[in-house]
Amino acid sequence: MNHLKENRNILSPQYLLDIYNQLKTNDKKYLNSIVSAIPDIIFLLDEEGNYLDVMAQGKEHLLYKPKEEIIGKHVSDFFNDTLSNAFISLIKKAIESQSLQSVEYALHFKPKEEYFEARVMPTRIKKNGKNTVIVIIRDISELQLSKEKMHYLATHDTLTGLPNRTLLFEHLTHAIQSSKRNNTKGALLFIDIDGFKDINDNYSHKTGDSLLKEFAQRLLHMTRKSDIVGRLSGDEFLLILENLTKMDDILNFIEKTRLQLSKTFVLDENNIDISVSIGISCYPSDGEDADQLIHAADQAMYDVKKHGKDNFTFYKKEFSHTSNRYFFIRSTLKQAIKKDDFTIVYQPQFSLKDGSITGIEALLRCNNEALQDIPVSRLIAIAEESNLIHNISRFVMQHCCSQIKAWQDMSIESLNIAVNLSRKELSDENLVSVIEENLQACGLEAGILEFEITESTLLQNNHLAKENIQQLRNIGCSFSIDDYGTGFSSLTNLREFQLDKIKIDKSFIDELEENEDDKIIVSATIKMIKQLGLTVLAEGVENEAQATLLKSYGCDEVQGFYYSQPLSASELTRLLLDGKAHTYKVKGC
Ligand code: C2E
Ligand code: MG
Ligand code: MG
Repeated sequence: MNHLKENRNILSPQYLLDIYNQLKTNDKKYLNSIVSAIPDIIFLLDEEGNYLDVMAQGKEHLLYKPKEEIIGKHVSDFFNDTLSNAFISLIKKAIESQSLQSVEYALHFKPKEEYFEARVMPTRIKKNGKNTVIVIIRDISELQLSKEKMHYLATHDTLTGLPNRTLLFEHLTHAIQSSKRNNTKGALLFIDIDGFKDINDNYSHKTGDSLLKEFAQRLLHMTRKSDIVGRLSGDEFLLILENLTKMDDILNFIEKTRLQLSKTFVLDENNIDISVSIGISCYPSDGEDADQLIHAADQAMYDVKKHGKDNFTFYKKEFSHTSNRYFFIRSTLKQAIKKDDFTIVYQPQFSLKDGSITGIEALLRCNNEALQDIPVSRLIAIAEESNLIHNISRFVMQHCCSQIKAWQDMSIESLNIAVNLSRKELSDENLVSVIEENLQACGLEAGILEFEITESTLLQNNHLAKENIQQLRNIGCSFSIDDYGTGFSSLTNLREFQLDKIKIDKSFIDELEENEDDKIIVSATIKMIKQLGLTVLAEGVENEAQATLLKSYGCDEVQGFYYSQPLSASELTRLLLDGKAHTYKVKGC
């Protein structure tokens, strides 16, 4: 029994031996087969780095050597000087501190790099008068791949592969700093495709996407290695031109770029001609930081739009507030709020097990003509920055609750409704009371409401946000993580929050059929989410192949154009009445 009181970090061989000896022969066989099934590699080494035993073989290609060729060898026989020295100092540290030590490292096994984690545990076994350690090696290549992929996704636009807003900000900040240090000049070009929405409407979203991809390629071909091309959002691209010696450089570049972009795009057998509006800001003269420079280039671009599009202009200090796109959107949003000029569309979510509708996501639409071209996510971002979000939030809550009540009155089976909550909405001190008022006014249970929040919103260190989540959970509302995988957090970070559902972001689903990495990541993520006892939903499912793969990975729910576009309340009512929500069969089930 004494052994039980021993330090938990130290394996007492006597204790293990006692237990082992107490096992019956069959149990011993059983134990041996368990150890041999461990996917990790377990070695016994002495304090100098000599291999004494191979306790679990792990993967067959362990060091690409059989056990007999490892015992008696030294770590330096397998690894280069840096790695073997690192191992030996880790072993020494583990013995000195009598505690567990770990390290992650990469090895070049043909044809690619593999990543491992080594855990070194001191033991009390002495061999030839030397201390020993147990080393457990785990292959973390899949985890590493998924980390790298997540980082890539958080910094790149998945459609074009170009840097996204986050990475562009980083590059621009770096470019401004180096121009200050080296006394050089640079320019930022804000390029917007004229009438892009018409292309999407007149052809298809697929053609629209192909145009954006080809457009990105043409921009890339135009630039020097040191220039940066990125996609800000929708049809907005940014170009950072560094180290310009004279103004003519920019003018020449713009002339050539406009010429290239004016050549007909041949996409899906359609000939499409486009033009672009370009706004230019120069650094360091037009702004101190990335934010100001982008803002200035955006204003210049908007001035081009106002004066007939298909042109370019430089930022001028005298651009008034009215010519500023940001202010235009903000004031138009304000007018829309005054007139309640919004609608909600509803996108159903389906069970992959039985095809039933499990819930619906409420998505905001602004009816104002002038804002039709602007993605909803951008409107929400501007509403957040200008504190208009709370009015929008009230509109959404009110309409969602009245709509559910209307469906209940039509004897349509009660459906859960998922409402998106942005960062500011979640930390609004009135959030809970607004929700409770609306539920009461319609005589609804709080359990019908699910809130979708992103990883970054959840992880903001905001006291009010945490309290709101707790209170809403207490009254019976549930929470899901939206766009999972696009933030920097991991599932372990999210474990402290009580969540019900994780929605895997569309960017992981887009290339699921052809991208082997995505297959590994999505299937592993689904497995992990389910092990945590949460429901997993895949967003943006657009075709049968994606649906079939997701089903084979054990994904619970799906949402996407393959099943249904976001629908107006009346369209969804018809679907619910015709399909009888609970028996409605989806494709692929
Ligand atoms: P989200 O919450 O991730 O919503 C899903 C978005 O993906 C919606 O875009 C939806 O129309 C789109 N979508 C769904 N299935 C597919 C598909 O198969 N293919 C493609 N290409 N797209 C698909 P939407 O409506 O433009 O909304 C964009 C974002 O704006 C939302 O992303 C959400 O973050 C935000 N948002 C929308 N409505 C609200 C709202 O009422 N409140 C708040 N705070 N945010 C909202
Ligand atoms: Mg959502
Ligand atoms: Mg989403």
